[in-house]
Amino acid sequence: MTVKVGIPRALLFHEYHLLWISFFEELGAQVIISEKTNKNIIGEGIKNTVDEACIPVKLFHGHVLNIKDKVDYLFIPRINSIFKNEHICPKFCGLPEMIKNSINDLPTIIDTEINFVKSKNSLKNTIYEIGKYFSNDYKQIMSAYDKAYLKFKNSKRIIKENPFSEVNMLNNKKIMIMGHPYNLYDPYINMDSIDKIKSMGAYVLTPEMIEDQYIFDYAKKFDGRLYWTFARKLVGTALYLIDKKNIDGIIYVSTFGCGVDSVVADIVEKLIRRKSDIPFMLVTLDEHSGEAGINTRIEAFIDMVKWRDISENNISAHG
Ligand code: SF4
Repeated sequence: MTVKVGIPRALLFHEYHLLWISFFEELGAQVIISEKTNKNIIGEGIKNTVDEACIPVKLFHGHVLNIKDKVDYLFIPRINSIFKNEHICPKFCGLPEMIKNSINDLPTIIDTEINFVKSKNSLKNTIYEIGKYFSNDYKQIMSAYDKAYLKFKNSKRIIKENPFSEVNMLNNKKIMIMGHPYNLYDPYINMDSIDKIKSMGAYVLTPEMIEDQYIFDYAKKFDGRLYWTFARKLVGTALYLIDKKNIDGIIYVSTFGCGVDSVVADIVEKLIRRKSDIPFMLVTLDEHSGEAGINTRIEAFIDMVKWRDISENNISAHG
């Protein structure tokens, strides 16, 4: 019988799903992904997570509950670091324990540590550790990973293929919507912000469309230590946009209870306000955010970006 492995559609799923799905499928497993976020998933997540957790972590709990009874394994790695010499938000390394302590009757959890601060050999060990749940053949596991990684890399390359130059050919206003990928790519949590902006005739860009190397290089120009991967990516994106002047407005989407964003969103906002006249808006979502309020803020922001053409720069970039 085919082994079933479940992946919750939350947190880093939005960044790495193609890699993980392809890897498990190459090893002969059937991958079950939780449903798209809905009212029930978020409600169950909130009920089964400690109050102090951020919404994305609560949502992760809801997605686990959505698939836990349908699978033999749940993939919840203990993530310490996803880039060399950088750390990720500490919530990620505590996630397997949080889940085990909050949810009963779980299948076996694949909670292998992912830690890029360690040596390169450790990556191979990590892959082997995960693959061992499905095969004892080292070569098969490594080959499955290589194939999955190639697919993943190609998909990332396509996303980055010149979106800015393509967009420059258009007359539409260009809006960067930035934040953690799980806030940007889960339409339920961000209340369809991307589609709303598009429906107002603007072109939407995200940090994932910028070449990684640019983000690295611009982040190095920041006058301070960027300890977290998310911080490096978002500050690098902001400095890139400020320098290139190729965007008409920036919306930063954050969620209530995010310790990282309480620092990073503030740094990004200060950089943009001090070094550019690009209109900027911070949207902080929580489980009680009303859609009407978000719609009004987005509409007012896009209108302001458009009016700046008519009134030149007489309209404040910051609302
Ligand atoms: S970075 Fe923020 S939103 Fe993401 S898991 Fe950590 S605290 Fe939650």
